[in-house]
Parts: sequence; structure tokens; C-alpha cells
Amino acid sequence: MKTVARALATVLFLLVLGPQSSLLSQDLHPRISYRIRVDVNDLSGFDVEMRVQRAGDTVRIAMASHPEYDDHYWRYVENLRAESRGAPLQITNEESALWRVVAPGGDLTVKYRIHLPAQTTPTRAAWKPFLSVTNGLVGDLHSLMYVVGATMVPTRVTLDLPSGWAIASGLDPTKDPKTFAATSVELLLDSPIAIGRFRSWDFTVKGMPHKIVYLAEPNAPSFETASFLAGIQRLVTEAIKVCGLPRYRRYTFLYQDGAYGALEHLNSVNIGATSQNLAHDLKDVFGTTAHEYFHTWNLMHVRPVERVGLRYRPAPPTGELWWSEGVTTYFSDLLLRRAQLPNYDPTRLEHLERYIAAYLLTPGYSRNSAERVSRASDDPLGLGDDFASTHLQGNLFGTMLDLMVRNETHGQRSLDDVMRMLSGRFTPQRGVTGRDIERAVHEVCACDAHTFFEAHVRGARPLDFDQYLRIIGMRSQVSWSPAVDGDGKPQPDVRLSAFNTEDNPLLRLHLSTPDSVWGRAGLHTGDQLVSLNGQPVVSSADFRSRLGQLHIGDNARVQIIRNGVASQVSVAIAGYDRPTVRIVEIPIASPEQLRLRAQWLITRNCSGRFNAGTPAYPPLITNLLRTLASGP
Ligand SMILES: [Zn+2]
Repeated sequence: MKTVARALATVLFLLVLGPQSSLLSQDLHPRISYRIRVDVNDLSGFDVEMRVQRAGDTVRIAMASHPEYDDHYWRYVENLRAESRGAPLQITNEESALWRVVAPGGDLTVKYRIHLPAQTTPTRAAWKPFLSVTNGLVGDLHSLMYVVGATMVPTRVTLDLPSGWAIASGLDPTKDPKTFAATSVELLLDSPIAIGRFRSWDFTVKGMPHKIVYLAEPNAPSFETASFLAGIQRLVTEAIKVCGLPRYRRYTFLYQDGAYGALEHLNSVNIGATSQNLAHDLKDVFGTTAHEYFHTWNLMHVRPVERVGLRYRPAPPTGELWWSEGVTTYFSDLLLRRAQLPNYDPTRLEHLERYIAAYLLTPGYSRNSAERVSRASDDPLGLGDDFASTHLQGNLFGTMLDLMVRNETHGQRSLDDVMRMLSGRFTPQRGVTGRDIERAVHEVCACDAHTFFEAHVRGARPLDFDQYLRIIGMRSQVSWSPAVDGDGKPQPDVRLSAFNTEDNPLLRLHLSTPDSVWGRAGLHTGDQLVSLNGQPVVSSADFRSRLGQLHIGDNARVQIIRNGVASQVSVAIAGYDRPTVRIVEIPIASPEQLRLRAQWLITRNCSGRFNAGTPAYPPLITNLLRTLASGP
């Protein structure tokens, strides 16, 4: 009854005061603030304090699970306690990552320590917290708990750090240089915080502040920072041209030496970039940055409905990763070209040829719908004996949808417009579904998007690439020949791997295709792998290295356990064929096809600006530039 009365009072206030009363309604919500304390004398972890005011008499607190990288940091919570006005409160662990605290009066302080797990790999994961004598990474859902049901209230975090340590994140500064604000607890839990001594650079695009931070290891080799900074700035500029102004207030690129991998956030990104790699070549870091930064819109701002909100249990699978990941891969390639940054494939055609060849090599791509591949992306058993990457499949789907839109709109619109429409229409709280994406494509092209989505996104009909390439007066030429190494020597068919998970440490097989020699010999994805040629296999890396020693003509004896029954399977190692794809011009292309081809090849972006991309474009494209110059 108390709650009903409170709600009624809120409604009355809203009616009387109008829109200004949103502050008042916030006042009825809990107030939550955090403090993180790092002591340089004990770098085994750090202390966290969460102050909660005006919560209910019983509060549920939790460690959030990341939908992509669920690192189970609830395992590293130590000495969890809660108090109210100096009196200890009772805490009950209800689930792995969930605790109940009885707090009469609703005011409480929760204290705990995050004990950092020992690093087991030579380089650490870029998205996980760490501490060293010079710098570290704290904050986000690896460090901070939340009050279940109170994730959208504004919040602050204060950092008590060793003297001389700086702070960088995507959070808003306050008058206190040690305190940062977030418009919601959810945003704070999506905001990693770099601390310590590091290099940083600032730039603005469209008046919005961006920061680049590099956490170097001691004695790191230097790299060419001017090109690095200019490249990142150009990527930001090009992404904003595609998607429109970002919804963040500020954005921070958090690069780390001695780390691998990357993780996107709404107002920042973690990227592992070793100084050795940066000194050698900036291609990798630009490629990763283009992809992860584009995720700020596609995956973080425009996110699948299954990814809305904080949760303490694992997120359900989503069927939209082909769009969130694959179309992000599509756009990150375009951003690199438009920003004239180095790229692995010199031209769009070569990029597409490589992707189509990979699609044709592995039948899983044409046997499984995009939604099925998306849902199976975190489940090695999800596609049975097939394998398919949602990044690769989605990139090709994005490319074909882009050609379809260009065709239907006579080159006036492209997939850029679809992305910009979704960015304007959806928010992190209003997730996107496959039907929403289909609707956006339909609205942009004013054409039938339904058939494509039924056939390929929800259905499993193989892509007919030539149907779309014809739009730009081109077609694919596919030839199959034995897979060979760089010296032309035939390669053995080792198209399988072994995996284990945190929940199940037993090594199991993962086939790339049932058509491989391994599949034809009777092995299946999920079979427990015991030994290869009589020697126990101890890890997936061990299996990979042992596969690398096999030769055509060998006979591999694989000891497995399936459904509790042990057996040995004999595999005759042979070579295999792989496709080579060349995209060629059709003999007689119409002026419209030529015009659309020119637009497509030079990656015309939505602002209408032309960009020939990397200087490695072949003469064909230089000629096409002239064709385009006379077009609309
Ligand atoms: Zn991604």
C-alpha cells in the first residue's frame, strides 16, 4: 500500500508540475554511488564501496553478466559485507551473482574487494581489470555491483588512487577530479576506467570530445603516434557520416599494451594493442578500431532486444548478430576505405572475393539461416557438424542488401541509410528485432525486403551472389583446386578443432564441415577427444599443433568417447579442394550497371563525397571514376 500511495503522489506531482518534475520522480528512486580504492602496496585487487540510499527494506544486489564475454567476476568478490548506520546487515547469497540484503530503512553501504585472478596467458584480455605498479583498468561490470531494479538511476563513482595517478574513461567529469558521473548505473557498468600513468591525446569531431589513451608497458618501443591519431580521428569522422551524430557525450579509446582482444562500449572501447605491433604496422589496430568503434552504434546503441538491460544471469542467445556483428564487419571495411587507411584487401572486389570463397568452402554458411548462425555463435554445439561465422555471413548479407538498395533506388541510397535510420529509431532501452531491420531496409529501398529476409535471414537458402553482382554489371567466376600452401604444396585436410568450456573442461571436437575427411570417417562435433595417434591430447592448442604435423597419406587414429562409449576412429588424411573466386565484368553492361558499379567500387558514402580508397585501386576503377563524374 505504501508503494501505491507513493506512486499516486508521483502522478499528482507530475500532473501539477509537468515535465520539470522528472527530477522529483528521480528523488523517489534509490540513490547509488560508488567508490573504488586502489592501494599500490597491494595490487592483488582493489576495494569497492557501494552506497545505496532510499532503497526498499530488502535489497537485491548483483554482479552483472556480460552478454558476450561473461567472465563471472562474482567469483572474485571477497569479504562482501553490508552495514547501515554502523550496524552490520545480513547478506544471503541467493544465486552465484545475486545477494539479498535486509536493510531496514533502505540506506546501506556495501563493501567488498575484487581479488584479481592470476594472469594465465602471456598477454591479458583487454577488457578485464588489471593493476600494475604504473597503471591499471578498473570499473565497469567486472568491479561494480548493482541494485536489481534500480539500473537507470544516475550515479557517480569516486576513485581513491595512488598519488600522481590519472583517470580516463567515457564517464562525465564533475567538479571533483576524482569523481565521475554517469546518467545511469547501467552506463557506469559499461564504462571501464583506465588509471595510472599513461599517454593521452584529445580531439573533437563535430564538437564532441574524444580521447585516445595508451597504457604502455615499461620500456615499450615507440610507434608513430601522428599517423595513429590521425587515422583514429578519420575513422570517427567517417562513422559519424554513416550513422549520424553519436549519442555519447564524450568517447574514450582505451588502448592497452600487453593485451589482446577488444570490447565495445557505449562511450568507450577497450582495445589490446601491443607496442611491438604498433611499432611494426598500424593495419591491425585500425582494423580492430574500425570494427569496435562502429559497434558504438551497431550493437551498443542499436542492440538486439535480447541485449537490453542489465542481468545477472547469462543473456539469452539472439538471432540478430548477423546484423550486429556481420554488418559491423561490412561497415568497418568501408570506414577503412573511406578514411584511406591500410586494409588487408586492397579493393572492395578483392575483399568480396575472399569472403565469397570462404562462404563457398564451408557448407555451414549456405545450410543455416543467419538467425540460426547468430544464435549458435556462443555455442560450439549449436550447428551440429557445421561451422559458420556470423561475422562472415553477416558481412556478405550486408553487401548483398546494400547492392539491392542501390539497385532499387538507382544509386540514391545504400545500406548507410538503413544504418542511419536504425540509429535514429532505436536506443539501448528499445532493442531491435529482425523484423525491425527488415522494415528499415524496406523503408529505405521502398522495395521487397521480405523475400530476402524470409529466404536467408529466417530461412536457409544459399545466397546467389550473381543475382546481386549483376546489379553492378559483374558476376563471380568460381574455380575449385586442391588447397595448397604458399609454396604450392597440397595441404592436408585438418578442418576441425578441439574446444572446452569453463563449465565443461573436457576437450571436445568441433568439425568445420561434415564433408571433411574427419566427418566422413564418422567423427562428430561434441565427441570427447581423448588421444591422437595414441598420445593424449591435453589442450586445444596441443591438438592444433599435432594436426599441423599430419601429412597427406597419414592415417590418424582418434580415440574418442561418445555417449559414454569409448571408440577409435581411423582417419585417412587427404587433401581437399578450395574455391577461388574472381569477380569479373559481364560482357555487356548497361550504363545504369556501370554507374552503380562505379559508385559501389569507390565506396561512395552517404554524404555523396567520393573516395577512391587505398591507392592500390586498379586502372579499371580509375576509369570508372570518370564514368561516375558524369553521373548524378
Ligand atoms: Zn564485433
